[in-house]
Amino acid sequence: MSSTSRLTVLAGPTAVGKGTVAAWVREHHPDVWLSVSATTRKPRPTEVDGRHYHFVSNEEFGRMVDHDEFLEWATVHGRAQYGTPRGPVEAALAQGRPALLEIDLQGARQVRQTMPEALFVFLAPPSWDELVRRLVGRGTESAEEREVRLTTARAELAAAEEFDVTIVNDDVRRAADELVSLMRTPPQTKRD
Ligand code: 5GP
Repeated sequence: MSSTSRLTVLAGPTAVGKGTVAAWVREHHPDVWLSVSATTRKPRPTEVDGRHYHFVSNEEFGRMVDHDEFLEWATVHGRAQYGTPRGPVEAALAQGRPALLEIDLQGARQVRQTMPEALFVFLAPPSWDELVRRLVGRGTESAEEREVRLTTARAELAAAEEFDVTIVNDDVRRAADELVSLMRTPPQTKRD
């Protein structure tokens, strides 16, 4: 693993806008390498295989777990499995590229065990009410699915203190720019 480049883990409660912030970074900061996770969940209509996720079967996901191909993996919201393929992350860091993982809290905790030198960033909503509004507004989940996600989100919000930095997602562009500028800060300035 290269010590000159930095891995950054972006986590936060469901519907806080992690995906939107990551999409902004992808669009506007091409020097940042974004990990593409594998997942067993079905694609949403706008999602492209290989770009937003690698959409895989349960069998394929299990095979990847068995072959230790994930840097971390988790079952999210008790439904689908998500994992970060290890090889591409290591290749990006070896090339000296700032690398970003947008993953859930369970995954962030796993990465902290194996790569404690990474920068851990918590994306927070401006308020709880705003988080609920965003989750309802997205309209991609059923009422039952939303309840599951809100339960997860309550626990996730309490985890902010485990992270090195909290960024409030009050505005996607501002939050993404703050994230990228943190990613470009030399590792030795990381808070202990
Ligand atoms: P969604 O289904 O809305 O795309 O994502 C659901 C949750 O899975 C989000 O909190 C997202 O951050 C998380 N997630 C996406 N990819 C990964 C991954 O590779 N590992 C883990 N642990 N969580 C992930």
